[in-house]
Amino acid sequence: MMPASVTTGYHIRMEAVRKSYGRAVALHGIDLELGAGRFVVLLGPSGSGKSTLARCLAGVERIDSGRLHLGGQLVGDGRRHLPPERRNLAMVFQDYALWPHLTVRGNVAYALRRHHLDATESRRRVDEALEQVGLASLGDRYPHELSGGEQQRVALARAVVARPGLLIFDEPLSNLDADLRERLRVEIATLTRQSGATAVYITHDQSEAFALADEIAVLDGGSLVQFGPPEEIYHRPVTPFVARFTGISGELPGWVRQVGADELVVDVAGSALRCRAGDRLAIGQPVRVLVRPAATAILDADGSSPGRPAPVPGQGTLGGQVVDVAYRGRGYDHVVECQGGTLSAVFAPRRRERGSTVRLGVSAQGCVAYG
Ligand code: ADP
Repeated sequence: MMPASVTTGYHIRMEAVRKSYGRAVALHGIDLELGAGRFVVLLGPSGSGKSTLARCLAGVERIDSGRLHLGGQLVGDGRRHLPPERRNLAMVFQDYALWPHLTVRGNVAYALRRHHLDATESRRRVDEALEQVGLASLGDRYPHELSGGEQQRVALARAVVARPGLLIFDEPLSNLDADLRERLRVEIATLTRQSGATAVYITHDQSEAFALADEIAVLDGGSLVQFGPPEEIYHRPVTPFVARFTGISGELPGWVRQVGADELVVDVAGSALRCRAGDRLAIGQPVRVLVRPAATAILDADGSSPGRPAPVPGQGTLGGQVVDVAYRGRGYDHVVECQGGTLSAVFAPRRRERGSTVRLGVSAQGCVAYG
């Protein structure tokens, strides 16, 4: 049985936070505000500054300048620095970081050592945390007697047992295989939200980010490039980098035919495609249209696209030729060579053979044009 949430997660504010290692700047003045109890994913390629940002939040690294507030308290500003053990937070790492000489119970109880609880209360909390991660019966085992997934569940129990205001996850699923990743991802999402803690979760995997996040912070080269809910990142990526990093099926060159309030019409090799504008664009301007995988579907001869929302009037269409097809269970993903460029992950419930000529419906919702 799960207890009701007892913690209030930290409200977190970063103002112009800078961090460098020698002459290499890892964070260029980050401004970021995270609501109490929100689940925030830091998404970016390797070297973009995700770990550095998390380590600055944790207090493992000192910030060079700027201000960092956790739960209304100033914990770092380049001069002052509150050490990690006084920040009431917990971290979960990819390599579990359990004490090999302590049992499962001992590892979880270790997180309570500074809380001065009596033995009964400590034991009750440890049991409750182990119950929450489904390990109630394995409390007396040692880490080497557990599978990778079980070890990560111990790390999770250890993280929540002291009811921290902030939980930091650093690629916690990277060492697990696909099936287990999916299950543990759901457990992390559930347990974290029940705990009430604010969560900061690092990943370079966009599907993990979209699945978990209340808000995604996209980092590139030590700068924050976009912060918002997954839907906004998906539909309104502010730069081509954000669009590419969060999944596109291809890029098509074209020029702007019409500019509307919310949409553009772009000419791609003679076909009119409706798109969102990623930049301020003018009629006649050359653009690249970045296409999300969910925006495309192969149309049947009557113009419908089974398995996809009905085509909207004026939906753009493109002709092309199938160059590859992959079975995906629900249907087939095709790679289609269109005039102007190649689109991958073009879905259809029915297989189209390599070499066949097809017409694609392309929805404005998933197309963004940049100059
Ligand atoms: P990410 O977590 O997104 O992979 P990091 O925060 O680890 O990125 O790294 C950001 C940048 O800072 C990279 O250029 C990296 O090489 C550099 N960096 C990280 N840690 C150190 C360190 N301890 N010493 C020197 N440079 C570092």
